[in-house]
Amino acid sequence: MPDAKLLNTIEALSRLVERQGLDESSILNEAQQLIANLVAKDDWLPAEFAQPHSQYYRQYLLYGDPQDRFSIVSFVWGPGQKTPVHDHTVWGVIGMLRGAEIDQPYHFVNGSLEQAGEAHVLRPGQVACVSPRIGDIHRVSNAYDDQVSISIHLYGGNIGRITRSVFDPQTATRKEFVSGYSNETVPNLWV
Ligand code: FE
Repeated sequence: MPDAKLLNTIEALSRLVERQGLDESSILNEAQQLIANLVAKDDWLPAEFAQPHSQYYRQYLLYGDPQDRFSIVSFVWGPGQKTPVHDHTVWGVIGMLRGAEIDQPYHFVNGSLEQAGEAHVLRPGQVACVSPRIGDIHRVSNAYDDQVSISIHLYGGNIGRITRSVFDPQTATRKEFVSGYSNETVPNLWV
């Protein structure tokens, strides 16, 4: 690691989730600032956790809280890759580190799944939030057909182990999935 940015962020997040009586919007406000600081400069993510796959987007676990109160993932997009429409079921903060991604929110209207407003582009240094309270369903795509993009995701749970849903936007049908993690090792934060 070139510096202690990730470790410092994890320390601050651990203190944040330990505090009693905070509601979700207060947690998101503070967590958003921490992730904004983390992605302000693209100089700390080890190359191992920045590797794309030719076919699938990758989700590398950078840190998992031992009590499953939060997890941090590097989300690596190969050129042109995109997610299905999906939810999270816990709060999440997305910080753009490299490249750009397109976020199209969806919501249910009278049982059908519709786009919730315009898609927006997330550029390096910018952050966005999801949660069941503020809007939890979206489709995310790499904004580029010819380059890798990377965003850093923080979730209010162990996201790779949570049962959540993907949706067919045409029929609004739901299918359960567990995303897992792409890596077999995690970063050594203490070197
Ligand atoms: Fe998502």
